This record gives sequence, C-alpha cells and structure tokens, in this order.
Amino acid sequence: MATYLGCIADDFTGATDLAGILARGGVPVSLRIGVPSGPPEETAPFEVIALKIRNLPVAEAVAQARAALAWLQHAGAERVFWKYCSTFDSTPEGNIGPVAEALMDDLGTDQTIYCPAFPENGRSVFMGHLFVGRDPLAESPMRDHPLTPMRDSNLMRLLAPQVTRRVGLVDRMEVTRGAVADRLATLRDEGVAHVIVDAVADADLSTIAAACEDMALVTGGSALARPLSALYVKDGAVGAAGDGHDTPLLPPETIVLSGSCSSMTNAQVAAYLATGAAGYRLDPLALAEAGPGPVLDWLAQQDLAQAPLIYATARPEDVRKAQDRLGTARAGSLVEEALAACARAGREMGARNFIVAGGETSGAVTQALGVDRLTIGAEIAPGVPWTYGRTDGADIALALKSGNFGAESFFSDARTGLDGP
Ligand code: ADP
Repeated sequence: MATYLGCIADDFTGATDLAGILARGGVPVSLRIGVPSGPPEETAPFEVIALKIRNLPVAEAVAQARAALAWLQHAGAERVFWKYCSTFDSTPEGNIGPVAEALMDDLGTDQTIYCPAFPENGRSVFMGHLFVGRDPLAESPMRDHPLTPMRDSNLMRLLAPQVTRRVGLVDRMEVTRGAVADRLATLRDEGVAHVIVDAVADADLSTIAAACEDMALVTGGSALARPLSALYVKDGAVGAAGDGHDTPLLPPETIVLSGSCSSMTNAQVAAYLATGAAGYRLDPLALAEAGPGPVLDWLAQQDLAQAPLIYATARPEDVRKAQDRLGTARAGSLVEEALAACARAGREMGARNFIVAGGETSGAVTQALGVDRLTIGAEIAPGVPWTYGRTDGADIALALKSGNFGAESFFSDARTGLDGP
C-alpha cells in the first residue's frame, strides 16, 4: 500500500509509542528499525522509522533524519511527522530543532509546529511552558535525566538556540478560540518558522490537528498523531482495516531489561522485585572493572518462564556517582552494552519476549537483536504497545517502554498481556 504519512522518531520507544497510537485508528502501521537499506517494499499507509539520534552530534542526527525522509518520500509519503519525546528531551544544541530545520529545507516548507503535549500521560504545554503532571518540566524528575537533564521549562527558550530561524507561540487562548490557522498565518508573515503550540487536553490536540492537517511537516509528541491520523482517515487519504493489530502466539520465556533511571522506572523496578521476581542490579563501576561476565553467569542460572529482571535503574545520586567516576557517555554505554549482551544471551536461552525500559536502552537491545522491522500489537499502557519482529530466525515480542511511561505495575502488566489478546 502506498504510504501517506511518514514518521521519523528520535528514539526507539518513541517510535513504538507513536506506532501504537497510530494503530489505534485501525490503519496498518509499519515500524522500521533504522533507515531500511533497500528501496521501499511492502509499505503501509503509516510508516514509522525508528532512529537513535537523540544524543548524537547534530550533524550525524541530521544526516540520519534526512536519509529517513528520503526513504519515506520514495515510499510516497505526502505528510511527515517528526516525533520526539513529550518531555522535549534534547541537548542545548539539539537535536529537535536542527532536524526539524533540515526536514523543512528538504520538504521546501517554511513553517512547522512543535507540540509535545501528551495529556493522557500528564504532559501539557501552557504559554509555551511544558508541564509534567503538575510540575514545570525543570522541576520534574526530568531535571535529573542521565543524558538529557531538562533544566528549563520554556520551550521557546529551549528551541531558539537550536535553530537559525525565528521561534513563536500559538497559546492556549488562541487554541481554544479556534484561531490556530489564523495565528500561524500571521506568524508566517512575520517570518516565524518554528511555532510552539500550547495544548493541555485532547480536545486542544484535535483543534491543532485540524489546523495543521495540510502541513508538509508536523513535529511533536505521539499524542498529536492520534487526531491527525483520524483526520487522514475521515478525509479519505488512508483507509482503516480491522483493528490494526496482529498478535502471534509465542512461548512464555521472557527477559526484563531496564536501563532507564526515571523516577517511574525506579518505582516499577521496586514494584516488580516486590512481587518476588528474580533481579540482578547492574553497577556501571563494576561493569567497568569486570565486564558483563557476572551478570551473564547469573542469567544462565535463571528460569526464563519466571521473567527475570536485569536492571541498571538507579536513583539520581547513584547515577551521578557513576557518571563522576566514568563520564556520562561511558557509564551509559557500559550499561547499554551489558543489557544488549543480556538480550542476546537471553535469546540463546530461549527468551522470546523482551520487556525493555528506557529509550536508549531499547535502541541498544533492538540493535543487538538485529531486528529491522516490527509490527504493532495491543497497548500495555498508553504509548507502550507490544511489538513483534524476527531475530535470528525466531519470532519475538518486544515491549519498549519510554522511561516515564506505564503504571508502577508495568512489568507485571506486560507479562499479563502475554497471555493472549
Ligand atoms: P529513559 O527512557 O528513561 O530516558 P534511556 O535508556 O533513554 O532511559 O536513558 C538512560 C541512560 O542512562 C542509558 O544510556 C543508560 O545506559 C544510562 N544508565 C542506566 N543506568 C545507569 C547508571 N546506574 N548510571 C549511569 N548511567 C546509567
């Protein structure tokens, strides 16, 4: 089927989050891991390309995003969605702004919007300020993120240094008045290329989608994609078919891998261990000394039918200690490499279900397993669907959870979801 909407996500959990939300509307969704090496084939009306570019140097991130765009255009995409985290995770240099600007250039468009709001998960934007629940972003646990600590809540201030053209705002009053399109036109006349749009409720997202349906490029969190894709169906650009899900039956062997240090993942790890599940805590300092041998030995003794947990998840003070000793990048990559090695070892032991917490972590695990394409199953929690792919000739299921998503019982919830639809 020809592709209508092409999506580029800056991390893997973001891609599965987006694909799960798009699949809610019943339109076939295909998720590619990285830019496919061959020309588009067996394409779906909604194609999502998962990249791992959030923390790359700007030039590398931009190059990968442009390659993804070229592939999506080849597949026929008429609309493009640039997906990043609903907490606007970025470094002072990017990569949200530079990628958006490069995509705008390649698409020949002079304006796009930025709408990370995800009301269902407590992310809202008001007067250009991003809130996580009731807290401004910079006062939320995101201020202690290991790789992208967010120390400002004002999206205009965060975005402006990342781009070369002007930044503006469509505020909530204008959204509720239904004045989004008019305000965008005024800002365009003033030479404003990058427009933050406030949204605090799903109804705001519907209003914004209606005003932006014809934009070549829309950027934001996954929540905006829901009303946008519904409009594409309503207006006949794409057709819905069934429930969009495809659920293979897999053996119960499961491994849970957690590299996220978000406050929610800390609570989820504690809750899962409290159920009596077997757990192994990875310490970056120990990994630097002894490598992944000890955890692999431990894993070899485990009963995968009981879904053992391996986690580097730690409190901010412990993360800082490891980073001070090893450097942020080295601490992160030691953990990612160890969890990737555990994923491969688990597969050799027969694991067919992989529950993974953390965006970067999910990227490392998926790459280690050599999965290049995923189909989308039922959602375990808002923004976290089961996905299905093939690794080394075997069918597997992957649940890739962004740090802050899911309830405290997420790991148990995911296992329950394995009992069938
Ligand atoms: P999230 O989805 O919460 O942002 P990510 O997996 O994207 O989670 O990012 C977490 C990063 O922190 C990863 O690079 C991971 O390897 C790193 N990390 C995990 N545990 C530790 C730790 N104990 N000390 C230092 N860094 C860690």
